Amino acid sequence: MSVKVRFAPSPTGKLHVGNIRAALLNWMVAKKEGGVFMLRSDDTDQARSTKEFEDGIQADLAWLGLTHSEFARQSERFDVYNEIADHLREKGLLYPCYETADELDRKRKLQRARGLPPVYDRAALDLTGEQKAAFEAEGRKPHWRFRLSQEPVQWDDLIRGETKLDTATVSDPVLIRADGQFLYTLPSCIDDIDFGITHVIRGEDHVTNTATQVEIFRAIIDYRGSGTVPQFAHHSLLVGKDGEGLSKRLGSLSIEGMREAGIEPQAITSLLARLGTSDPVEPQIDMGALANGFDFGRMGRAPARFDMAELEQLNAKILHLLPYDAVKDRLASLNVDEALWDAVRGNLSTLAQAGEWRAVIHGDLDPVIDDEDRDFTTIAAGLVEEGTAGADLWSSLTGKAKEATGRKGKKLFMPLRLALTGRPHGPEMGPLVALMGAEKVKTRLRGERG
Ligand code: GLU
Repeated sequence: MSVKVRFAPSPTGKLHVGNIRAALLNWMVAKKEGGVFMLRSDDTDQARSTKEFEDGIQADLAWLGLTHSEFARQSERFDVYNEIADHLREKGLLYPCYETADELDRKRKLQRARGLPPVYDRAALDLTGEQKAAFEAEGRKPHWRFRLSQEPVQWDDLIRGETKLDTATVSDPVLIRADGQFLYTLPSCIDDIDFGITHVIRGEDHVTNTATQVEIFRAIIDYRGSGTVPQFAHHSLLVGKDGEGLSKRLGSLSIEGMREAGIEPQAITSLLARLGTSDPVEPQIDMGALANGFDFGRMGRAPARFDMAELEQLNAKILHLLPYDAVKDRLASLNVDEALWDAVRGNLSTLAQAGEWRAVIHGDLDPVIDDEDRDFTTIAAGLVEEGTAGADLWSSLTGKAKEATGRKGKKLFMPLRLALTGRPHGPEMGPLVALMGAEKVKTRLRGERG
């Protein structure tokens, strides 16, 4: 059986680390199994869905390398959904309800007061034709609920293992609102059947939905005369580094925001692919290798902790791994060539910092020299031999300075670094100095701007 999975966001907001995890898991499964990864825009909520969000989702996924080979938009399939809804109505599986939101709220409060679970009491099933007509005459429009079997539903979850839920413990789900809008529940099942989705991989906040959707799947398969209920995998949700819920902060954890802050896509995918698994988080720039290393059996059920500091550290490691060819288009705008990239990449937090190092190496700079080091750097300036270049420049300079002054270790290197780069930290000095050239090195060691 060939694998086909889908990522199905609603285009009502931006993607963030929480929903990208579902996208990534789906993508990795398709990649590893040689299957199909589909993107589905769950845009049945026409009031809140926008083209702008849909475009943003596509751009984020493309940036992350989570490419899809099929695309569908739910708003283009209302005819199909209506046909199946009519069939479910005929079968008595979809029934009209006239309660207002307030009335439902009151019912739930009463149930709670009596210590009962707030499950819909199915009062609408007992309405007579006259009562329904009276509601309609009042101007009420029905919303439509799916009639659950009220029996246990069971599936072998690829992450959670054997999972069982009695649909008697949940309310019959509303599939169509009073204003005629389809909620995602029914269209999702119809699409999964029609597009031949083999695995539904999503967050564990959908576990209850799955129980009800299994029954909906069966009804659709019965109508279509073909199709199979997909396999399910429900991953745990992301929490903050101290275990706190992320829902309120997700807005600030958007993929777009991370891109703008200089986070590399491979840092995000490397982290999210391994969070919540028994495998260590490692920087991985090869998406195929990342996918090959994925295994549902290694995913735990505990919430996965997301820590921005961990992502930033991983970002630095990713930059270190990125060969010039992978970044040369972006470096071109910073005027950074291969030699400069190789000299500085081991020390960057963001790629943009390569441009700052370019300015340090090739631009003009006021050297930083402490008073107590002035004599030392002046002596060092005199030791720079004209015509020395490449790696020799730094090794011969430090060798001679050590010999001439007796300084060693930090006392030898730090004043030179400060004078030559204007800052106490940075990439290895050898390659930097090689790029600066003897003339600039001499000027700066003398304490002159240059
Ligand atoms: N549009 C649904 C959501 O974003 C899809 C859930 C699913 O993967 O079935 O929650």
